[in-house]
Amino acid sequence: MRKPLVAGNWKMNGSRESVSALLNGLNSGIAQTGGEELTGKVDIAVFPPSIYVQQVADVLASSTISWGLQNICAEEKGAFTGEVSVSMAQDFSCTMVLAGHSERRSLFGEVDADVAVKVERAGKAGLIPVLCVGETLEEREADKTMEVVSRQVKAVLNHVDAAALEKLVIAYEPVWAIGTGLTATPEQAQEVHASIRQLLVEHDADMATRTRILYGGSVKGSNAAEIFAGPDVDGGLVGGASLSVQDFLSICRAAD
Ligand code: PEP
Repeated sequence: MRKPLVAGNWKMNGSRESVSALLNGLNSGIAQTGGEELTGKVDIAVFPPSIYVQQVADVLASSTISWGLQNICAEEKGAFTGEVSVSMAQDFSCTMVLAGHSERRSLFGEVDADVAVKVERAGKAGLIPVLCVGETLEEREADKTMEVVSRQVKAVLNHVDAAALEKLVIAYEPVWAIGTGLTATPEQAQEVHASIRQLLVEHDADMATRTRILYGGSVKGSNAAEIFAGPDVDGGLVGGASLSVQDFLSICRAAD
């Protein structure tokens, strides 16, 4: 039985003040509505901009909410100006990292091989790598969704050994649905998730059973429950709506 995960990707948003308000709001919202009941059933995580991770670690120290970085460097340490390493993430008690978010791929030129190394580094260090995959609108319209998604997933499966994939999470995020207000229908989401699960089965059946596959792309309180109802949908990666306490908590409850 896979425990659903709902994770908020704050992207490059926030200030010390808004981070404090958001985290305190989440903590008290969870406590008020039978906190343990919710977090017993759903794992909740946030991905702040890295400069706020100390603040997040302080506020969430005794909370059940986990935190991680939106990106890590493929290298371990050294002359990589502006980058942050896996061991630095661990120094601030991060337990997760995103790898290969579509904005990293399209705006910062990350390719499958880079993403595979990042997943490997995170997995080997014992973190939960959240591998993001998804097709553009052009690719969907050309019927290439599974070709693209399968290439992105296999690049990781073929590069990283089983031990480093132990905690892998995959987030299926159709690029055309990210930040656009458009969402995949529950049927479209389930279809791609089932195909990803099948790829995992062909690679390693045990891994296929335990790997959580999240949906991301304009998830809101109003559409989360129907998307999460798919048998292969194990929660969500949430961008815009994760910046609102009410919206994010209602998405967390929908995953319960
Ligand atoms: C994301 O950035 O991972 C995302 C899913 O964003 P949004 O929910 O805003 O579409």
